[in-house]
Amino acid sequence: MLVNLILKHRLNLQDFKLKLVLSILSTMQDNAFLKCIDSQCGLEYSISSARYECERGHLLDVKYKKIPSRALKELFYSRRNPQGSIFNESGVWRFRELLNFSQIDTGSLEECSKNLVSLDGAEGRQSKPYHMSKVADFVGLKNENLLLQPEGYNPSGSFKDNGMATAVTHAKLVKAKKIVCASTGNTSAAAGMYAANENIKCDVYIPSGQIAPGKLSQAYQFGAQLIQVDGNFDDAFSKSLQDAKKFGGYTVNSVNPFRIEGQKTIPYRALENLNWETPDWIVYPGGALGNTSSCGKCLNELFEWGWIKKIPRIAVVNADGANTLYELYNGKFEETELRWNKGKPDTELIQRYYAHLDEKGIRPNTKATAIQIGRPSNILKGLRSLEFTNGVVIQVSDSEMLDGMSIVGLNGFDCEMASGSVPAGIKKLIHEEVIKKDDVIIGILTGRQKDAMLPVDYHNNPKNRFARPPKK
Ligand SMILES: *Cc1c(COP(=O)(O)O)cnc(C)c1O
Repeated sequence: MLVNLILKHRLNLQDFKLKLVLSILSTMQDNAFLKCIDSQCGLEYSISSARYECERGHLLDVKYKKIPSRALKELFYSRRNPQGSIFNESGVWRFRELLNFSQIDTGSLEECSKNLVSLDGAEGRQSKPYHMSKVADFVGLKNENLLLQPEGYNPSGSFKDNGMATAVTHAKLVKAKKIVCASTGNTSAAAGMYAANENIKCDVYIPSGQIAPGKLSQAYQFGAQLIQVDGNFDDAFSKSLQDAKKFGGYTVNSVNPFRIEGQKTIPYRALENLNWETPDWIVYPGGALGNTSSCGKCLNELFEWGWIKKIPRIAVVNADGANTLYELYNGKFEETELRWNKGKPDTELIQRYYAHLDEKGIRPNTKATAIQIGRPSNILKGLRSLEFTNGVVIQVSDSEMLDGMSIVGLNGFDCEMASGSVPAGIKKLIHEEVIKKDDVIIGILTGRQKDAMLPVDYHNNPKNRFARPPKK
C-alpha cells in the first residue's frame, strides 16, 4: 500500500517520509483531525486541509481525540442566558466545545470572535422542539409523544445555516477566497448570506428552472454569482465540484465534513430539551443525506462519550419521485438490501442503480425541490447512520407531503413542502406499526415556506384534505 501511494503521487521516498513524519507529528498534537470513512483506507489529514475527500475519493469525518466532560451539559444550558456573547446566543456555537475543530479556547470571547463565523448569533437561536397538537392528531399520536423542531426560523430560512456557520468557519481557517456550492435552493441562500457577511465570494450552481423563486431570489439578493447548469441538481453538483477543483473554490455542500459538524447541533438542541433523555425516533426528510449523516455522527459520539444510554432510531423520508435511498435500502431495485455492512457497503450496487437511472432516463421528480435528488452524495455516511441507529427509510407522495406541510401550518408553524414529508412519513410509519403509538418522536421541519404558490394552489383545490378555498 505504501509503495502504491508513493508511486501514485510520484513522491520520492525522502519527501514521503518527511510528509509522513510531519503529518503524524501534527495529528499527535491536535485534538481534531480528518479521517477517511472507509475502514480499509482510513487515511488521516490535518484539520487545516481543505479537502472533503481522501485521495481515493472517500468522504471524510472530523474526529476528536478527547472525550468532552458531561459537565458541559450544564454549561450549555446556562448559555441560554447569553450574557452578552453572540456565541452563547447562537444555537450552533452554544455547543462549541463539541465542535471545536478550530481548537480554540472556547471560553475566550476574543478567540471566538476571531475564529468562529456567526450571523450575529442568529443561527439555531430560535430552534427548539414544539408540540403541535393538530399534527399529532393527524399522524395518530398523543400530543405529548410528538415533538417537531422547526429549523425554518433560521436567518436564511432553513436548517442549512447550522452547517454553513461551521463550514464557513473552516473556509476562513484555510483562508479560502471563495465558497462554492450547488443547490436546490436553501444551500445557496445560506451560503450567500454567510459569504456576504464575511465579505467573501460565493458561486452558486443551480439546475436551470428548478429552484423555488423564493430561494433563488435570496442568492441574488446576497450577491452570489449564479451559474445555471442544464440538467438537474445532480448535474449542477458535479459541475460545481469540477469547477471548484479547476479554478479554486471551497465547496460548502454537505460533502464538506464541517457542514456535518454544525448540523449535529440540531439533535443537540432537541435532546437538550428532553434533558438528554433520548426519544425513540428522530425523523428527517432525505435529500443529499447530510442531516441523516450528521444525526448519526452526533448520536454515535454522544453514545461513545457516555452522554446518552439509548440510541434513538433514525427514520428517513424520501419523496417517491426521488427515492434512491428508499429503493436501495429496502431492496426494491435488486433484492439485496443496501447496508453500511460494518464499513463494507456494496458500492457496486449503488453504481448499478445509477446506471439504471441513466439508462432508463429516470430523473428525480417531485414538487418538493429541496429533496429532488437522485444521487445523494452522503449515501455512505447515511447508511452508516442507519446501521448505527437501526434506522428505517420510507417514501411518501407529493400529495402526502402537501398535507403534512398544511397541517403544520394549521398549528401556526411555517414549513416548506420537503419538511411536510416528516409528518407524512411519521403517519405512514405509525400506520405500518413500525413506530408504536407510545413511542416518543422528534421530527425535524427543515425549512420554511419559500414557494408562495404551493399553499395558494393547495388551498384553492377543495379536493385537498385541509384546503380552505377562498369565498366568492
Ligand atoms: C437541503 C434540504 C433538505 C435535504 O437535506 P439533506 O441533508 O440533504 O438530506 C430537506 N429539506 C430542506 C428544506 C432542505 O433545504
